[in-house]
Amino acid sequence: MSGTVTPPTVPARAPRLGLSQLAPHTYQSEIRAMTTECERMGGINLAQGVCDTPVPAVVEAAAVKAMHDGYNIYTRCDGNQRLRTAIAQKQLRDYGIRYDPEHEVMVTCGATAGLHVAAMALLDPGDEVVVFEPFYGYHVNTLKALRAVPVLVALTEPGWGLDADALRAAITPRSRAILLNTPANPSGKIFTRAELEAVAALAMEHDLFVITDEIYEYFVYDGTEHICPATLPGMRERTIVVSGFSKTYSVTGWRVGYVTADARWMPAMAHFHDLTYVCSPAPLQHGVAAGLEQLPPAFYLHLAADYQAKRERLAAALRDAGMDPLIPPGAYYILARAEHLPGATAAEKARNLMARTGVASVAGTAFFRPGCGEELLRFCFAKQDAELDEACERLRKS
Ligand code: PLP
Repeated sequence: MSGTVTPPTVPARAPRLGLSQLAPHTYQSEIRAMTTECERMGGINLAQGVCDTPVPAVVEAAAVKAMHDGYNIYTRCDGNQRLRTAIAQKQLRDYGIRYDPEHEVMVTCGATAGLHVAAMALLDPGDEVVVFEPFYGYHVNTLKALRAVPVLVALTEPGWGLDADALRAAITPRSRAILLNTPANPSGKIFTRAELEAVAALAMEHDLFVITDEIYEYFVYDGTEHICPATLPGMRERTIVVSGFSKTYSVTGWRVGYVTADARWMPAMAHFHDLTYVCSPAPLQHGVAAGLEQLPPAFYLHLAADYQAKRERLAAALRDAGMDPLIPPGAYYILARAEHLPGATAAEKARNLMARTGVASVAGTAFFRPGCGEELLRFCFAKQDAELDEACERLRKS
């Protein structure tokens, strides 16, 4: 035998120093770009859902006190006992649904982290998740970032109604979950009981999770009721309720949210929350707990009434400016038809409007599959009255 050895051919290596295949496909650039441009020109930002309304005094005082009292170290990764208990009591008070604060309530770094860890714990790459359109960009992008597949089901106008046949048609053997946002960003849609029953029936028939984002649960107008989907018969064990305090207490920068769900799913979600976020900020958990413990039901009713008045103000100004606002029954955004504004695309229309008025909005295309939403702009009304009034005046003069 000869001793000659042919060296194996080494395949040419792809360059290693570069972004992942996924990275360029999950940027949410338009809202950020509008915000940056708006700051540059000193405009009024109705693009981003940053509510700059005042923090309730009890919430703020309790957070400051907690800092002084030394609550500045890690809490349990699923939150301190005081806040878990307060959340369990809130769910019981508001919806009559009972969660064990030890095993079925997790405090998260905002609803955003809640959805992220739910998706990490419950979905495999390639799993399909039904998402209703118009959608909130973080929902779709969080799923994509975890290599799950969002399957869009269009809600239909007027009123963004659910077409149960379209939902049924979207379910395949790869389906794992239905994600629903009620009240919804950007449409303000509130799912009716009949619609939720249709969702529940399909979820049970196909053994799917239902992941709900209920962050706008108190932002409900015209007497419309928010129904927590987990309360429907048979739904508690398969519903992952995601919500938080960013909006209700005007603390978007605090990063305190929660998940309530059946005890079977919690340890895995808590594990991923620990790995990525460790815990929600310790003193701020106390601030939020004080809000839950001390603010009376009237606080939440006033909140809805205040925001309904803001909605009216902005809707009137949009009408006067020649746009056609689609009046939202919930949340704090208005989608408005802006066909007549100059610009070939919604992004151009938003930029032209900002150049003329200094008011930033978001192109409707941010909330739809490619090619849809070009006629729409989204405006946020979570603003202090004086600033909102100034924005309305500028829009009227446009
Ligand atoms: N879910 C929806 C539907 C939202 O619109 C937003 C913020 O705009 C969030 C979640 C973010 O919530 P959090 O600040 O609790 O992460």
